[in-house]
Parts: sequence; structure tokens; C-alpha cells
Amino acid sequence: MKIKFWGAAHTVTGSSHLLLVDGARVLLDCGLFQGSRKIARQINSEFVIPPAGINEMILSHAHIDHSGNIPGLVKAGFRGPIYCTPATQDLTRVLLRDSGHIQESDANFLNRKKSRNHEPPVEPLYTMDDAERAIPLLRPRSYDEPFTVANGRLSAVFRDVGHILGSAFVEMTAAENGQTRKIIFSGDIGPPHKTILKDPEVPAEADVLIMESTYGNRCHAAEEDVEIKLADCVNRVVARGGKIIIPAFSVERTQEVVYALNKLWNAGKLQRIPVYVDSPLAVNVTEIFRHHPECFDQEINQSLIDDPDPFGFEGLIYVRDVMTSKRINMLRSPCIVISGSGMCEAGRVLHHLANNIEDPRSAVFFVGFQAENTLGRKLVDGLKEVKILGDPYQVKAEIVIFNSFSGHADAEGLRAFAGNVAQSGRLKKIFLVHGEETAMAALKETLGADLPNCEVIMPARGEEFEI
Ligand SMILES: [Zn+2]
Repeated sequence: MKIKFWGAAHTVTGSSHLLLVDGARVLLDCGLFQGSRKIARQINSEFVIPPAGINEMILSHAHIDHSGNIPGLVKAGFRGPIYCTPATQDLTRVLLRDSGHIQESDANFLNRKKSRNHEPPVEPLYTMDDAERAIPLLRPRSYDEPFTVANGRLSAVFRDVGHILGSAFVEMTAAENGQTRKIIFSGDIGPPHKTILKDPEVPAEADVLIMESTYGNRCHAAEEDVEIKLADCVNRVVARGGKIIIPAFSVERTQEVVYALNKLWNAGKLQRIPVYVDSPLAVNVTEIFRHHPECFDQEINQSLIDDPDPFGFEGLIYVRDVMTSKRINMLRSPCIVISGSGMCEAGRVLHHLANNIEDPRSAVFFVGFQAENTLGRKLVDGLKEVKILGDPYQVKAEIVIFNSFSGHADAEGLRAFAGNVAQSGRLKKIFLVHGEETAMAALKETLGADLPNCEVIMPARGEEFEI
């Protein structure tokens, strides 16, 4: 049997790997590669093999860099079932529709420019209709419920990995010519003690491990008490009459911030000001969280006894429509606005930033990783002048950085995960994926020293290995 690497090879996006077992072809994830428009378009249009030849797919979690190219796969001929957990099914449904809309809007924007230059138009990578055609292929399988794929040649089971709602690592047993191989695909591994979600489960033994390496060279700093810091910072800004803008991803981070504010509100530690979640996608995603308490950890389950809605409190207002979003900008009194995108690259948060960034009373709270060259990164790096929606602005608002919200295990967490898989001495190969070059290389070195009997490989795009 073989494995062929296609996406998230020496990079963090576009997760996609192909397992070849006794003639069957099973795809692990089909993520969108994110980068400059031209390169992304080319990479996202190429598939590891013609999609009609792929029999089935296993999806680790709903994040768009793992699921976002499924409509493209379906558009190109894939018709097989896509196995995922029930929460992943619900989130993927919403995220793929949103992604189809973004792809269409992006192509429209580009075509307006092209028509001015008398250039031929481009087609969107895929459309909302393609996303609709992909959605019925999703097949839910609960955590710890074994299922078979490839006509019984591969058995698989999802285990909770605590990264986002519904996220899983996949334990698989493949059989070919009387030989069996145990394979684990980590998906993205969550950190321990993450709010809302359960801790990652301990993986079983395996012969082969395909593992993410996002924070392969980093250890998270000792945790700050996020609720104390949040309450202090909010109350400080409110006291001077400012507004608080929180750019946040729609999946997980928004709910984490809302849940923290909900707890502070209930405890009477938060000023009674309005809190807006200004993002239609985040509103839809939060509704999905409410439907999946099976993914919640003990703390939030316990809190449900006194407060049946951990994502709603008296001062919290969910905003879908544009008119209400615009009205928030007219408000003169203090409030909190949670809005996307998380790295300030697009979306409604740009309008809120443009309206508040020059006001020294206001503040921007950063609760997520800010990639290079994004507006979020420029603000985190302390630039005094930035461009928002094409216009220059002086940065006078306070910039506050929260480090405790993280979706990924750090180097120690990754090391522990691999250590557990290797414990019985059976593990022979670790393939590192989903990481920047330096993070991956650092982790390779660490794991090489930890596990001398194990080969640690950083596969390139298109590389195939016998396993
Ligand atoms: Zn992820």
C-alpha cells in the first residue's frame, strides 16, 4: 500500500493526502490552498489524481484549509462518500456555502477589472451550486464508531482531537495482500485544556503517523488568566469611553470569546455594555455549536446547569444584516464588536477598524494568530500608520494582544502525541505535514532524537511512499 502527498506539504494550507490500498483510492482531506490569487488558483485546480478515480474521502475537520476544495473536487468528477463527524458535517455545510459565495464574489471582482482592460473573464474556482452538490456526499460517523471504507479494505475510526468543534484524528487499519498496516492521520491537534472542547484523546499505536507540525518550533507561553485580562482590558476601555473591536475567526475563536464574556457577565465582572457579534457566518456557526454539546468539555457542560445558553447573555446581540452592522458604526457609547475576518484581511471588521483606529479611547483586541503581510500583523507589530480599505489611517487606538487563545498543540504537545503512537515500538514512519519549513524541520530534529527507530520524513508535494 502507498501514500501520496499532495497538499500541506512543506506548507500549512491545502491539506490533502491520498491512500492507495489494494486498488482503492481514499483521500484524506481536500483543503483549499491559500496564498496569492494566481498561485492559489493554479494549485487548487490541480488534483492528486483525476477526481473521478478517487473512491472515498475521510475529512478530519471543517476548517477551509482541510475541506475547502471539496466543491472543486466534486466539480471535477468526484462522487464518493465523504466521512466526517456529525459536528464537522454541520460546520462544513455552512463553510462550503460561504466559500462558494466568496469564490463567486472574487471572480466577479476580478472580471470587472478584466473587462476594463478588455481581457477575457475568469470562471470562479467553484460556485455556490458546486458547494450544494458536494454537501449531500457528507456522511456522519460519530467519534469512536468504527466504519469501513474501500470495500472493507480499510477500517477507520474518528477520535476527538480538541482542535475545533467536531475535529478528529483518524485511526485506520489497512489490509493488502494479507498484510495489515495501522495508520494514524492527526488532522490538526488541539492544545490541552482548551476552553469549550474536550482534551485530545490519546492515540493508539500505529506503523505510520501522518502528523501536523504547525507549532513544531514553538512552545506556548505559560497561560495568562484570559478572563481576568479580558475583564480588566474591557473595563479600562469602557471607563475612558472607547469601543472595543475584536477581529475573530467565525469558527471556534468567536465562540471562545463569547463564552468567556458570557462567564464574566454572569459573574457580574463585565460592564453592562452591548456586545455585538457582527458576522452572519459566525452567527450560523454559533448555532451549530449549540447543537453539539457532545463535543463540550466538563466545565461547559457543568455550566449548562445554571446557564442553558453559554453563547448568549442579556447584552449580546448577533448581527446578520448590513443595516444593523452599519448602525453599530454610528454608536457613540462604548460597546464590544466581534467581527471577521480574524486577520483583518476582509469582511465587516474593516469598517469597524476604519471607524475606530484613530480614536485613542478605543482598542483592538487580537485573539488569534496574525500571518505575515496581513493588516492584523501590521497592527500587532505596532505600525503607526496602516491602510484600511485603500485609505491611510493613523493608529491611535490601543492594541491589546491575547496569547492564550490557541487552536494548535505546541511542540511539546506534538511530541507527546507522536510519543504515544510510538510507545509500543511499532511506529516506523512519521510523515510531517501542515507546517512552515522551519517549524517542520525543528520538529523533525526533535522527533528524530526522541524516536531513533523511526524515520521522520517531510514529504514534498507529489511524493509517493510505500508503507
Ligand atoms: Zn484546522
